[in-house]
Amino acid sequence: MELKFNIKGSFKTSDDASPATEAIDEFINEANETILKKGAPEGEGANVVDWNVDGSKINITIESGRYVRAHDALLRMRKPLAKKLGKDYRIGIRGIEIDSFNISIPSENQDLGELKIPYVTDIDYNDSVIKLSLDVGESELQNRVPDRILTLMEDKIAALRYGGKAEHWEVLWQSGKKEPKFFDDPTKEMMNRGWIKRGASRGQWIHGPQLAKLFRTFEKIVIEEMLEPLGYKEMMFPKLIPWDVWKKSGHAKGVYPEIYYVCPPKSRDPEYWEEVTDYYNVTHEVPTEKIKEKIGEPIGGLCYAQCPPFWIYLQGETIPTNEFPLKVFDHSGTSHRYESGGIHGIERVDEFHRIEIVWLGTHDQVVSESKALQDKYRHIFDDILDLEWRKAGVTPWFMAQEGLTGTSEQTDVGTIDYEAPLPYRGDDGEWLEFQNVSINGNKYPKGFNVKSQSGDELWSGCSGVGLERWASVFLAQKGLDPENWPDEFVKRFGELPEGIHFL
Ligand code: ATP
Ligand code: ZN
Ligand code: MG
Ligand code: MG
Ligand code: MG
Repeated sequence: MELKFNIKGSFKTSDDASPATEAIDEFINEANETILKKGAPEGEGANVVDWNVDGSKINITIESGRYVRAHDALLRMRKPLAKKLGKDYRIGIRGIEIDSFNISIPSENQDLGELKIPYVTDIDYNDSVIKLSLDVGESELQNRVPDRILTLMEDKIAALRYGGKAEHWEVLWQSGKKEPKFFDDPTKEMMNRGWIKRGASRGQWIHGPQLAKLFRTFEKIVIEEMLEPLGYKEMMFPKLIPWDVWKKSGHAKGVYPEIYYVCPPKSRDPEYWEEVTDYYNVTHEVPTEKIKEKIGEPIGGLCYAQCPPFWIYLQGETIPTNEFPLKVFDHSGTSHRYESGGIHGIERVDEFHRIEIVWLGTHDQVVSESKALQDKYRHIFDDILDLEWRKAGVTPWFMAQEGLTGTSEQTDVGTIDYEAPLPYRGDDGEWLEFQNVSINGNKYPKGFNVKSQSGDELWSGCSGVGLERWASVFLAQKGLDPENWPDEFVKRFGELPEGIHFL
């Protein structure tokens, strides 16, 4: 069977509508041929399948497929019907009531588990059809709630087909093989040598002088070899991200399992908190249950992807044409993700350091800037870090973070992951994604309403350089001893600093 909408509802009239029955009959017959088919392919559209007048109610049942959905059909009828009844019978339409609303979605695979979807009162799985019952009113119809529910369900059904989370992945380019200088896990070796220690929080490390210098050298290389020659300007992006940003960036669609949430106090008044401070001072336990009562709802979370908060700076602006391509970067603070299970080394952490590079301009400018960055990265990985690495086309990061898979439908939009082998994982070991370069299409300029003076559509791109990931790759392939590091790198790094000693 096909996708089907069925709505039973009524137009509430200002007076008994029975005298107008014949006119209504005429109107509905005409509507079935005209406004309920307008815009739909031949043979598609909505149909009024049943109706009657019951005092000051015109009851009506509409069925449709995907085109001119039943709820749109009902809304489409309101104005012309009101016009007809007003002119000839002095009867007004006061509102729309919905008695029942069902969406039947064909799907062989029905393994969706227990779902709690707003406005959905019942989900019935039967004979390759998933039937949803909705409890909605006129304002939900106007706000397109049924369409959003359908999209949500279709996404869930599509996700069943590709097994949940298999992201798109294809190799685009691969470097030559490099003989590794090292075969151990660099995190373990760094712990042995006192370069790093675990921080007090989950997935967090304290980087000693040696690793701090390594990170700063990576940053210096990125800035001097790439960002300065290409004309990027440094900015500082916020690191506490409120919901408003994530609604516009799309993250609000799916990033919840990995967010570090932020809740502000309900009051700044020390008296309000006295109970908590007194409790701590007497017991030396932090009363987290009491604190929970005294903090507000989460206002958002800690920085997750680095570029979204930057867009508030451009939001609602029109930018002179000669400013493009506009090129900026940020490395002003940490990013935070609640990563899944187990203990990882520095390659997967809950608190990490990243340089975020953002550019925007016309389609052509954004595409050619992406190529310029890729050339510089190639130079850095080949000529300075001497890595074995590859580039892979993957599901765009912004889609992945909305919980989607596959690729963008827009040509030239996509994410390239940079990946490298970690010799300690063995010849067949999984390669590590250590950064990406992404063309995000018009998503951000559109989402944040940014315009060019020229009127040309604006596009943007971004690239995230994960310093923990660069370090994981570089140290896994080259080891911790600077005598095994490439000369071009040592030249920029200088001397390995003495660490801090413990007795
Ligand atoms: P992964 O597939 O390894 O989970 P990701 O695809 O979720 O990474 P992105 O959202 O693409 O990561 O973030 C861009 C970059 O940020 C990554 O290429 C990586 O360099 C860095 N990064 C992301 N998550 C982490 C993490 N948990 N620890 C360290 N660096 C990270
Ligand atoms: Zn970004
Ligand atoms: Mg991830
Ligand atoms: Mg990624
Ligand atoms: Mg990834």
